[in-house]
Amino acid sequence: MMTHAVFIVLYGLVGLLVGSFLNVVIDRLPRRESLLRPPSHCASCGRRLAAWEMVPLVSYLALKGRCRTCGERIPWRVFWVELLTGALFAFLAWRVGPTWALGIYTLYSVILLVIAVIDLEHKLILNVVIIPSIILALLLIPVRRLAGDVPSYHTAVMSLFLPYRLTLNAGQVAAVSQLVGGVVAFLIFLLVYLISPQGMGDGDVRLAAFSGLITGFPGALMAVFGSFILGGIVGVILLLSGKAGRKTAVPFAPFLVVTTFLVMLYGDTALAGYMRLI
Ligand SMILES: [Zn+2]
Repeated sequence: MMTHAVFIVLYGLVGLLVGSFLNVVIDRLPRRESLLRPPSHCASCGRRLAAWEMVPLVSYLALKGRCRTCGERIPWRVFWVELLTGALFAFLAWRVGPTWALGIYTLYSVILLVIAVIDLEHKLILNVVIIPSIILALLLIPVRRLAGDVPSYHTAVMSLFLPYRLTLNAGQVAAVSQLVGGVVAFLIFLLVYLISPQGMGDGDVRLAAFSGLITGFPGALMAVFGSFILGGIVGVILLLSGKAGRKTAVPFAPFLVVTTFLVMLYGDTALAGYMRLI
């Protein structure tokens, strides 16, 4: 029990460091800058940061959110992305435990977080992020099987849709489930995009394919329709509170990112509960 707690804390600390790097990614990718060169510097005066200024959370608080040379504000996002990534890592360590699947879930979570934050700031899903992510998800399908990451209720439901003569083992059914999930989510978003192109970007359609590859079928349906419901609720709240008008473009990726993350971790449990009901 104690070792598990230590593992959660250590993994959370790794998350803080990763979060610090994610801020660099989120800053530089939309500007098409290299992630490696130049080293971390103030975006305003260009002064290279000292090592202590790169310590997650602590440095932001010590500097009171300003560059110590030119006084330029450091975005508040720098702090909360570090905090959120640390919390995310700790949460995943607690939920999944030290397994190969943890590595895969961590990778997916980090990608989803970067996509959500860039979309919030720029209303944009970058091809340089989403295309390699889709390829990665395809390559990881056999790896997830080897890691024993086979959601049992997903495979049970998926088996219903396969021709009964086709004899596949649970791992193979899970692989088919992920491919079908990717295609189904992609097609649903493509349909919405074609019907109302102003409500959604083509980047969202690509993100849907990535989401479906992660969540599989029928998990992808939960992630997709969950994101529509979540987006609808937040949209109504923004309208009623006067924070957005009818024409305001609200970035959609964060909603799909949240539901994808939840289905990735809890989809199988939710499906098990549902199947007990029917
Ligand atoms: Zn500066």
